[in-house]
Amino acid sequence: MCSESYDLGEPNGECPECGEPTVDGKAASGCECSPETCPTCHATPCDESC
Ligand SMILES: [Zn+2]
Ligand SMILES: [Zn+2]
Repeated sequence: MCSESYDLGEPNGECPECGEPTVDGKAASGCECSPETCPTCHATPCDESC
């Protein structure tokens, strides 16, 4: 878990595009510094470079 990460809370769904847990259609957690973003849920998985 890095310093730029965020967490929206308890997931209530899953993105059909990337499989990330989602809260109301948005990625439940991720990293602000991620270079990649899922177009569907805006998931930003940390690439460990931060
Ligand atoms: Zn997604
Ligand atoms: Zn990160």
